[in-house]
Amino acid sequence: APHRLPNFSAGPATIPTSVLARAQDELLDWEGRGLSVMEMSHRSKDYIAVTKKAETQLRALMDIPDNYKVLFLQGGASLQFSAIPLNLLNGGRADYLTTGAWSGKAIKEAERYANLGLGEVNLVATGKDNNFTDVPPKSEWNLSENAAYFHYCTNETIHGLQIFEPPQVDVPIIADMSSSILSQPVDVSKFGMIYAGAQKNIGPAGLVIVIIREDLLGQASAWCPLLLNYEHQVEKESMSNTPATYSWYLAGLVFDWLEEQGGVAVIGKINQQKAALLYETIDNSAFYDNPVAHNYRSIMNVPFTLADNSLDKVFLEESEKAGLLNLKGHRDVGGMRASIYNAVPLEWVQQLVSFMQEFEKKYG
Ligand code: PMP
Repeated sequence: APHRLPNFSAGPATIPTSVLARAQDELLDWEGRGLSVMEMSHRSKDYIAVTKKAETQLRALMDIPDNYKVLFLQGGASLQFSAIPLNLLNGGRADYLTTGAWSGKAIKEAERYANLGLGEVNLVATGKDNNFTDVPPKSEWNLSENAAYFHYCTNETIHGLQIFEPPQVDVPIIADMSSSILSQPVDVSKFGMIYAGAQKNIGPAGLVIVIIREDLLGQASAWCPLLLNYEHQVEKESMSNTPATYSWYLAGLVFDWLEEQGGVAVIGKINQQKAALLYETIDNSAFYDNPVAHNYRSIMNVPFTLADNSLDKVFLEESEKAGLLNLKGHRDVGGMRASIYNAVPLEWVQQLVSFMQEFEKKYG
C-alpha cells in the first residue's frame, strides 16, 4: 500500500487515495488518447465530455433542480466575495450574517462596492461578541425589507461553526458552502446561489463551483469584470477563458468516488459518526475543550484547545511523530483543529481519538 498518513488539513485537504491512484494511472495516457487531460485543449471534444460528466454527476449528487446553472470557475471562493455584489447588488441592499472569519471577509468585500456607490450592505447580526462560538438568535437579527439577497456561510472553517438549516428569510439566500458542500444532503431549492471552493470536499485547489438560480442572472453591474459575470459564464459554459482543466477533471473523479460510497446521504451519516466520536472525546475530558454551542458544532472542522496551552507545541510534535498530520489550529482561534472532510475515513478519526486519550494520560 502507498505511504499515506492521516491528514486533517483544513484545505487543500485529503483526496481519496483511490482517486489519486486513478489520476496517476490515467496521467500519461488518458483513455488511450496518448496524452494527459492536462495537455488537452479545453475546446476539444474529449475535454468537453470530461466537463459534462462532472456537471451531470454534481447535479445528481446534490439533486440540483433544472432551473439552476452550474459553473466551474477560478479565483477560489474569495473571488466570489466580489462577484456576488458585482452581479447581484445592483443599486439595492444586501443582507449579510457574520458568523466567523469567512462570512466576515465576504461582507468586507461587499462593503467595498457599497462604498463606491453600488448599493447598500447591511450587517444582519454578528457572533463577534462571543468569539463566534454561537449564532445570535433570529429574534435579534436586523433584516432589511426587500434585500437583493441574504448572504451567510454554512460552515465557518476556522471557528468550527456550522448552520445546518438555511435561515428562513424571504429573499434569495446566497451560501458559502466551501467547507460543507457534499458533506450531507441539502435542499438546493432553498437557495438562490451556492458557491464553494473545491479544495476541501471536491478536489484540488484552483476551482470554485457556483450553483445559481436562473432568475438571478442578467443583473450584473457595468463594473463587473467579464470573467466574474455569471450570465456570461453561463453562456460560455464556464469557458470564457481557459478553465482550471485538470482540477475540473479531478473533481469528476472525486464525484465517481462519492457515487461509489453511496452518495451524499451515506457519506453524511459517516460524517456524523466521525464528528460525534471527536466531540464525545473532547466533552468527556477536562483536558480538551471545544467552545462552540452544541447545535452549531461543525461536522467538518473540529477546533479544540488544551487546558494548558503551553502543551500545544508538544501535542503538535507528538501527533506528527505519531503520523497524524496538520492538526495545528488557525492562529485566530489557537489550539488544534481536525478537519474531517468526506475523504477522511472513520479509522483516521479513531486513530486521532486514541492519540488524544494517550496524550491526556501522559500530560493531563
Ligand atoms: N470560505 C470558506 C468557508 C473557506 O473555508 C475558505 C477557504 N478556507 C474560503 C471561503 C476561501 O477560499 P479560497 O481560498 O478558495 O478563496
